[in-house]
Amino acid sequence: MTVPLRKAAKWQQETRARMLASQADKSCTWCVHLLHGGPRPVVVHAEHPTHLVCRVCSIAARAQRTCLDCGGPAGSESPADGREDVCMGPVAIYTRLRCAACHRPDPLAGAFGNGAS
Ligand SMILES: [Zn+2]
Ligand SMILES: [Zn+2]
Repeated sequence: MTVPLRKAAKWQQETRARMLASQADKSCTWCVHLLHGGPRPVVVHAEHPTHLVCRVCSIAARAQRTCLDCGGPAGSESPADGREDVCMGPVAIYTRLRCAACHRPDPLAGAFGNGAS
């Protein structure tokens, strides 16, 4: 489920680019914990890269997150369903969710998303 940043997929590169652009033009927002808490990992949701959240907020938001491919409800209750892809960057953790219909293991990526890689 976790891949090195240098092997980052296109979705992750696009998410990072949008996140950096929003920081540059000051449209970026943070959850209250990142604003007022101590240093902690930043989580970037691929479907909403201009709003950065902490891990607690990311977990809390899971039920409302949408599929990155079709924009519909991802319907993912927990990481156990394997439909979340995660990239660990040096300063942020990038994640995308996809609904069951859109999630297909990519043979080129080697069972991407189910932890086998
Ligand atoms: Zn938070
Ligand atoms: Zn979908």
